[in-house]
Amino acid sequence: MDKNIPYKIYLDESELPTKWYNVRADMKKKPAPLLNPGTGQPITLDELSHVFCTELAKQELDDTTPYIDIPQEILDFYKMYRPSPLTRAYFLEKALDTPAKIYYKFEGNNTSGSHKLNSAIAQAYYAKKQGLKGVTTETGAGQWGTALSMACSYMDLDCKVYMVKCSYEQKPFRREVMRTYGADVTPSPSDTTEVGKKILAEFPGTTGSLGCAISEAVEVATSTEGYRYVLGSVLSQVLLHQSVIGLESITACDKYGIKPDIIIGCAGGGSNLGGLISPFMGRQLRGEEEYKFIAVEPASCPSLTRGVYAYDFCDTGKVCPLAKMYTLGSGFIPSPNHAGGLRYHGMSSVLSELYDQGLIEARSVEQTSVFEAATQFARIEGTLPAPESSHAIRVAIDEALKCKETGEEKTILFGLTGTGYFDMVAYQKYNDGEMSDYIPTDDELKKSLNELPKV
Ligand SMILES: *Cc1c(COP(=O)(O)O)cnc(C)c1O
Repeated sequence: MDKNIPYKIYLDESELPTKWYNVRADMKKKPAPLLNPGTGQPITLDELSHVFCTELAKQELDDTTPYIDIPQEILDFYKMYRPSPLTRAYFLEKALDTPAKIYYKFEGNNTSGSHKLNSAIAQAYYAKKQGLKGVTTETGAGQWGTALSMACSYMDLDCKVYMVKCSYEQKPFRREVMRTYGADVTPSPSDTTEVGKKILAEFPGTTGSLGCAISEAVEVATSTEGYRYVLGSVLSQVLLHQSVIGLESITACDKYGIKPDIIIGCAGGGSNLGGLISPFMGRQLRGEEEYKFIAVEPASCPSLTRGVYAYDFCDTGKVCPLAKMYTLGSGFIPSPNHAGGLRYHGMSSVLSELYDQGLIEARSVEQTSVFEAATQFARIEGTLPAPESSHAIRVAIDEALKCKETGEEKTILFGLTGTGYFDMVAYQKYNDGEMSDYIPTDDELKKSLNELPKV
């Protein structure tokens, strides 16, 4: 071990960031604006405020303010589980026999088990401050719903969660955690909404998708007095809140003179990756440093590596604003065989634009190789990783093994976004040798891509 760098780097409470960083402010070419699906014009604050809390709608549209104060109540909540440790993976380095130095930022140290709480508390805070009764949302694998339930119970807000049906059935304990925190959980698609009924009529027996669940949650929010819709990923406001991950990382790195060469994150809607890389990307955009950024996605839902960069609906029911993003089409539903989360059809418009400018690389990986990396990591470093996080572990290990071949002493930083305690059905499949890989064919992708809106 390097005696100058501890196994775990903990920051003091006083070193917590007090402002979020908005990477859009440093982007010369900004992400494309959200469009009103009816008029095709950039959406206004007023229109967006029917769906989202007003303050969050403002953050969504703010492309120019680099730093935004974190309200004291949110800072206080962050102190319950932040700063999160930055760990030097000494044991993994040794096991791989690599000259690379590997670090990971662990976000699973809270009951919800993932980074999602960083944005959940912010969104619940602004909803409460606006005097709302409650919020609605969707959840896929369940981490976002859990985080939001925790945040809403803390803020004394009602919380209605539409949970993708296959996860609702596969992860009964996720559901119970949410209910324990007081949330109301409905499997989606359901017959409690018009859009849910329509989707059920068109696709009877569907196991659901995030896109369907979003449509249901938005319908309930916009048709119920005192409610707004909140979303746990994809949106620029979520990347903003998640910048605490990157800000803490950069503080810890600077404190110990660590300069990452490669920064890796898994990418579903892009919030953890965006949050982790934002402050580093800011340095690069300002010409101060250079890094290699890698987004890792599942081969079964490959929006960056096989999608197109176009305006698309954010949801299956086509009620949300249009976002320009790398997308597989809003009708794309990943194979139910896919166990590892990260199943959204599109990607954050901020990350999409950075990727389009060549500032981020993307890789897709198959789930059996992801679980192989997850198991290896659990056995060597101790922490049982979430399947989503394990996509980043896969590529971190691959990069470290490349260093072994070339003898380069690169510094690798990756985001370990959560724990895998609620993913034991997926681990069981892997352990029983029953996990297989499913890669959609070009024809399958063409089907959902043909349905892109014409703008
Ligand atoms: C939700 C989630 C992700 C993926 O979402 P992003 O918005 O892409 O970060 C990754 N890891 C964990 C543990 C999650 O809960």
